Amino acid sequence: MPLIPMYQCLQEAAKGGYGVGAFNVNNMEQVQAVLRAGRETRSPVILQVSRGALKYTNRVYIKHLIRAAVEENPDLPIVVHLDHGDSLETVKVAIDLGFTSVMIDGSHYEFEKNVAITREVVEYAHQFGVSVEAELGTLGGIEEDVSGSVQLTDPDQAAEFVARTHCDSLAVAIGTSHGAYKFKAEPKLAIDLVEEIYRRVQIPLVLHGSSSVPPELVDRINQYGGRMEKTAGVPIASIQQAIAKGVRKINVDTDLRLAATGAIRQAFAENPALFDLRDYLGPAREAMYKIVAERMRDFGSAGHAGDYEPLTLEDMKAFYRVRGY
Ligand SMILES: [Zn+2]
Repeated sequence: MPLIPMYQCLQEAAKGGYGVGAFNVNNMEQVQAVLRAGRETRSPVILQVSRGALKYTNRVYIKHLIRAAVEENPDLPIVVHLDHGDSLETVKVAIDLGFTSVMIDGSHYEFEKNVAITREVVEYAHQFGVSVEAELGTLGGIEEDVSGSVQLTDPDQAAEFVARTHCDSLAVAIGTSHGAYKFKAEPKLAIDLVEEIYRRVQIPLVLHGSSSVPPELVDRINQYGGRMEKTAGVPIASIQQAIAKGVRKINVDTDLRLAATGAIRQAFAENPALFDLRDYLGPAREAMYKIVAERMRDFGSAGHAGDYEPLTLEDMKAFYRVRGY
């Protein structure tokens, strides 16, 4: 099966009432971990690639890692998504690399500029059957060069924004936060706000900054010589409530970083003589696979890989024409 567009993935998720985790990847071990979890739980897979990851992999390596993922898993529906695209130029790079979905993040601009930049990207991307995620409102925390103060998404603005831009999904600020140091205590997500926004926009909603930061992963890092402060992530139960109200894509990055770091630290602590990369990157890959498989079950996408029919480019363009472009 060729890569599928995000809209198809999230439309199926809406039909099935589940959410799909989107996992950030930067290297072979991460790609393999996410794909193994998809295979073993029979879940659709969203690989997402940030601008930092494009730079880190010199673009060409990520392009061929994606090809390898498809070749190895011909019967698995896979979406490849640009995370936090900042301009039409970056979007063009991603589409040239074969991505089937892009995010344009104009959330830090004032409303009219966010509408303009998003609309421009939608018009460009839809010609290629590529889906567009936009963002309205601002999250707290830091992720690579994305940072900001919190401003929850306004439902009236969201309705106007979606009607004017024709974006395919919308990232909303409802109390999640980027990075490992999200909250001092368990946060409370604005679940009522999810319901209200979804009622108004009727397109799939996206949660950024939604790692759960399991204490056992942080403890493992500290037990083996790390120094991470006490922190709290987004509880799985809160994410599940948000899924029930219209969230379909859940971004998870920090949890994979924590899992990999703990495994590597443990490998070195238990055997200081290690110097073969496979002896610590192997356990890191295994730890990432475990957390991804857990999230695929938590979000309900496990068992749904068979729901997806391959689409032609004409099918995709027809879908977008119905939507307005
Ligand atoms: Zn994000």
